Amino acid sequence: MIISMLGAPGCGKGTQAKKLSQRYNIPHISTGDIFRKAIKEGTPMGKVAQQYMSTLVPDEIVIELVKERLSQPDCANGVILDGFPRTVNQADVYLKSGKLDKVIYFNIDEQVVVDRILNRRTCANCGEIYSILTHNSDTCDKCGGELVVRAEDAKIQDRIDSYKKETYPLVEYFKQNGLLFELDINNVKATEPEDQINEIYDKITSELDKLI
Ligand code: AMP
Repeated sequence: MIISMLGAPGCGKGTQAKKLSQRYNIPHISTGDIFRKAIKEGTPMGKVAQQYMSTLVPDEIVIELVKERLSQPDCANGVILDGFPRTVNQADVYLKSGKLDKVIYFNIDEQVVVDRILNRRTCANCGEIYSILTHNSDTCDKCGGELVVRAEDAKIQDRIDSYKKETYPLVEYFKQNGLLFELDINNVKATEPEDQINEIYDKITSELDKLI
């Protein structure tokens, strides 16, 4: 089962991807996490990616990275792709040799994601994400690491503009090839953040369980 999570930065796709990875016992592959790790380690790819983190890393680099990662044995039963493909060209090139079973699209208002990202803090050590609205400490509950504003989150408007221009056209693209499963995040009924996550998760798993 190869699933892709599609949506604006801050839409909640990373949170759901982690939960889905556990449920279906397949790896969660976040291209953003891979780039952040490469930047932290100062690898050659990290040095190139660093220049593009508030927009998009060039397609050739991302496509090669995903191809290489998917060839590893732990991906044999499927993967949750979080943040790939992010351009029509990436989708075109990928679909020539790879497969996608479903694309989960998080439809959410721009202002909601901007507010979420402004309130978002990430653990500099393990990458766990928190909102300052619900977390009253500047350290991570899981590992004690320092919570920081991600460098690319500080450039939120550039990222939203890049999403609208490069990534949003994929909604129509995947609608047309029948792969899109759309979630209306603006009309979630639950009010508490944890309940909202579970409500969205239930909708996704009802759809994905049909694929098993
Ligand atoms: P994310 O954590 O998914 O929001 O990704 C962080 C950053 O990594 C993005 O702002 C991009 O610069 C880069 N990135 C991640 N995935 C891709 C992709 N599929 N194509 C191009 N750039 C990407």
